[in-house]
Amino acid sequence: MNALIQAEKVSAGYGKMAVIREVDLHVGPGEVVALLGANGAGKTTTLLTLAGELTPRAGEVRFLGRPTRAPMHARCRAGLGFLTEGRSVIMNMTVADNLKLAGVTPAAACAHFPALERILRRRAGLCSGGEQQMLSLARALGREPKVLLADELSLGLAPIVVANLLRAVRSAADERGVGVLLVEQHISQALSIADRVYVMERGRIVLSGTADEVRGELARVEAAYLTGSS
Ligand code: ATP
Repeated sequence: MNALIQAEKVSAGYGKMAVIREVDLHVGPGEVVALLGANGAGKTTTLLTLAGELTPRAGEVRFLGRPTRAPMHARCRAGLGFLTEGRSVIMNMTVADNLKLAGVTPAAACAHFPALERILRRRAGLCSGGEQQMLSLARALGREPKVLLADELSLGLAPIVVANLLRAVRSAADERGVGVLLVEQHISQALSIADRVYVMERGRIVLSGTADEVRGELARVEAAYLTGSS
């Protein structure tokens, strides 16, 4: 298998508490993969473990074909983009300076989001939530990552804005071969752009398949959301 990033039987957690157990997943070049599940199911913990912020207690993370225990900054240097929950922009700096700080040229950012062009001189704190998230995503994609892990891109945003963000993610996969793992609360929007899907429940992957297959099991997916983490 030609995976860019992969978890093999990975268990991980915080302190003595195990949160994810025996997680198997992979993302290949040009794939958009959605990771779905209720609040507290372990999605963020999975991303943190793949990114190198948490160390697996068992199992192995493979990045670009090799087992890795490297810290997050080293993985980021090697081509990992990680967009955490919330907007990773510096509010009192302009959009252009936010890009500069990330080492991304305005041209590279605007290639993903032409709408950034007219707000380059605006302070990020004065931008709308959607513009801030566009900036976050442009900072991540503008660095030409091989893999992008994105946690709840759409949090608190209007559907039309979410569609724009997800379209950019899909294009990065299609045109640049980026492998994307997307944590998303909005099941239907995630299914509309994903190639494959994993559903987590209480720290375990309980369902996986192509977006079409998972769409056919929507009742089970929704049940996983209702089951929650308790
Ligand atoms: P959400 O959709 O709400 O972000 P999630 O699926 O991403 O949920 P996680 O954030 O991975 O879930 O959390 C899984 C479990 O781990 C939860 O029970 C949560 O309380 C616990 N947890 C998360 N972060 C920590 C932490 N830093 N220390 C201890 N426990 C934590």
